[in-house]
Amino acid sequence: MPDVEDLMDKVVNLCKRRGFVFPSAEIYGGFRSTYDYGPVGVLMLRNVKDSWWRSMVQMRTDVVGLDAAILGPPAVWEASGHLANFTDPLVDCRSCKARHRADHLDDPSTCPTCGAVGTLTEARSFNLMFKTHAGPVEDAGAVAYLRPETAQGMFINFANVLTASRKRPPFGIAQIGKSFRNEITPGNFVFRTREFEQMELEFFVPPDEAGKWYEYWCNERYQWYVDHGIDPSLLRMRPHDADELSHYSSGTSDVEFAFPWGWGELEGVANRGDYDLTQHAQHSGERLEYFDQATNSRYVPHVIEPAAGATRAMMAFLIAAYDEEEVRGETRTVLRLHHRIAPYTVAVLPLSRKDELVGPAQRVLEALQPHWMCDYDETQAIGRRYRRQDELGTPYCVTIDFDTLNDGAVTVRERDSMAQDRVPIEGLVAYLTDRLV
Ligand code: ATP
Repeated sequence: MPDVEDLMDKVVNLCKRRGFVFPSAEIYGGFRSTYDYGPVGVLMLRNVKDSWWRSMVQMRTDVVGLDAAILGPPAVWEASGHLANFTDPLVDCRSCKARHRADHLDDPSTCPTCGAVGTLTEARSFNLMFKTHAGPVEDAGAVAYLRPETAQGMFINFANVLTASRKRPPFGIAQIGKSFRNEITPGNFVFRTREFEQMELEFFVPPDEAGKWYEYWCNERYQWYVDHGIDPSLLRMRPHDADELSHYSSGTSDVEFAFPWGWGELEGVANRGDYDLTQHAQHSGERLEYFDQATNSRYVPHVIEPAAGATRAMMAFLIAAYDEEEVRGETRTVLRLHHRIAPYTVAVLPLSRKDELVGPAQRVLEALQPHWMCDYDETQAIGRRYRRQDELGTPYCVTIDFDTLNDGAVTVRERDSMAQDRVPIEGLVAYLTDRLV
């Protein structure tokens, strides 16, 4: 394993070189803190989101999905409290002009950029929402905001979803999508960006069950990262201190990951009480409650919210998976990604570009593609192609060689052990299916 100091550089470098993540607008000098996901990055990010959706929606009967609008009217953000409170305290250095979040300073009297003492301004509140105008006329009536979280889409659709889905508490609404925050200090690669993707669940429960469900979701969400390949030594659950809690929250715990610079939040699990539904009910005049026919009573459900970042999780998966080892005097770089997260599941590699191998290789590829995302590569020496797949984290390579023409079998190479197995082509899908559970 590389030193902790080197690890970040190596991961960022690999991301650019292999097509995971590119700095945005690079040919125009870049646009600070925005990133584009390249050919393998888009596959991996999609896998992170699909794995979340699979666990949170597909494998359950008590959660339904939603894809709400990104643009919203001010009324939503007035009710949610974001217009008044979604601010960070900002300080400027009078000497070097650097900007900092006051709550991130180790020493409030010293500028962390230039080291000057006593040059920081008083903190002022800076609203993190991106404001824009909908329609051609820039009048106040057309003000709109880009959502800074996906959560409000679930709250304002609570009654619609309840009626349409015929669910009853405890039940949840899940959503994955882009959110936008005008962060004062974006940085650490895709850890903190102004445009990012979130994966959020709002789980609505009878008020007296909130504590139980909060514990449940804290455990589930921690375990999700473990089940998808992050070693527990790199994870911890951190309950918020009383002074960190929002006024409406009776409990929040963060799932944290050991980033190379220290512990950082991957996801927050919050017990939000009835704050959100009550706020929107008051501001909209709509009833946002559940009528329980069994007891003939109405109540406002309480909400447990596990709120994760997809782009931030992808970065944690990359860092956790990055490994270097000595193999026959050479350094092998390998991403030990879980097979559900890895961009490609299988690579199909004909030993040579000769037609007699390319034909059978294409047929193997066509047999595998309906099941898994496959890469196909017929360039370079086979050893270099294995190394390339190791760097992409591809769990299995399937090689078609001249023996294949006689025995109808292929060589399957497993990424982590580099062990090779000879497998008949007709049994290949079953062989891989057994190992990709
Ligand atoms: P932080 O304290 O790091 O600013 P937060 O507590 O404001 O984060 P939440 O509002 O709870 O974050 O958002 C839920 C999740 O969304 C976070 O755990 C994180 O994974 C992701 N997230 C939030 N802001 C960003 C960002 N600027 N860039 C990337 N991911 C983000």
